[in-house]
Amino acid sequence: MRIYADNAATTKMSKAALNAMLPCFEENYGNPSSLHSEGQRAAEALAKAREDVAACLGCTAREIVFTSGGSEADNQAIRTAAGLGARQNKRHIISTAFEHHAVLHTLEALKKQGYEITLLDVHENGLVTPEQVREAIRPDTCLVTVMYANNEVGTVQPIAEIGKVCREAGVLFHTDAVQAVGHIPVNVKADNVDMLSLSAHKFHGPTGVGVLYAKRGLRLEHLISGGGQERGKRAGTENLPAIVGMAAAMKEACEHLEENAAHMIKLRDRLIEGLSAIPHSVLNGDREKRLPGNVNFCFEGIEGESLLLLLDDMGIAASSGSACTSGSLDPSHVLLALGRVHDIAHGSLRLTLCEENTEEEVEYIIKSVAEVVERLRSMSPLWRDLVSGKREFILK
Ligand SMILES: *Cc1c(COP(=O)(O)O)cnc(C)c1O
Repeated sequence: MRIYADNAATTKMSKAALNAMLPCFEENYGNPSSLHSEGQRAAEALAKAREDVAACLGCTAREIVFTSGGSEADNQAIRTAAGLGARQNKRHIISTAFEHHAVLHTLEALKKQGYEITLLDVHENGLVTPEQVREAIRPDTCLVTVMYANNEVGTVQPIAEIGKVCREAGVLFHTDAVQAVGHIPVNVKADNVDMLSLSAHKFHGPTGVGVLYAKRGLRLEHLISGGGQERGKRAGTENLPAIVGMAAAMKEACEHLEENAAHMIKLRDRLIEGLSAIPHSVLNGDREKRLPGNVNFCFEGIEGESLLLLLDDMGIAASSGSACTSGSLDPSHVLLALGRVHDIAHGSLRLTLCEENTEEEVEYIIKSVAEVVERLRSMSPLWRDLVSGKREFILK
């Protein structure tokens, strides 16, 4: 038996997405820019996908740009605002310390080009406040970018309120909504965002495709030059199978949002309850303001990597944090941003559920994690020092 509990890293593609994609390979393989019938059929499928995606986000089809995924959308959004800012001599950007690396590394590159970056501190509960954003905005601020929901600790930020602050100050607002779309209600108008990134493989769509929503009238910076696809905003022949698969997955996720969330919240809360019984442990991120499927714990005196390997042997696919940084021994920048010290951050476990997970699976996970944590602690010299009082416990 295998239990997949790493849905924040990527999800299994849905049947709806697959069924929407197959005709694009077998019959509907034309280039949407071609004038013949095959091309026009492809163009129609592309237009329909764009309409469906726009309907899910509450915007118009013209405001949707298809990209190669969340990372590209983040890059394009931030570089657009930076370019517009530079033309008005505004080179200050506000973000947070626990963004995805697609945002953080883009900001680092801009810093080398002379931009000034303010990274807001994240509170211990994994949240930033609209007041923090308001206080950080300066006359030369050209962009605020704050993620909708964090990919490691799952906390959901007050995006609509932050957007309101930005609007009042006349500053562009971008949100990386890769973890949010398809999981919680997202509406670009109600959320007061100017630009938003999303990625299909985080909601049961294919990998390698995403969207940048850009408010009407915003002139996007090109990352890729070439043909005039995407109304000149992103060159390259459209990845029609992936785009059509994404639209199908998104439609399905949006239609079942509430029931899926209710199911996952039930499982999540049971998981949190069960894992809290393990001594010297702590839940990372706010208990309430978190994604329906996200559970993230630190266990004192163990190493996350060993925990993951043993859980994998027991049939459970989990993560210690972000898939993009695991494999490196550095503790997660997200947990450090929440104020966890290195020793504690090293012992982290992220379990991210989807609507297909079951109560039985959750019970098995609780039992297995408790067992493995105990086994690892019994072998750890650090744990011995803690128990003997040579070192002091940090958690409870
Ligand atoms: C996965 C993820 C990304 C990157 O998306 P890709 O489509 O894999 O490039 C960006 N931001 C967040 C929050 C993510 O979880």
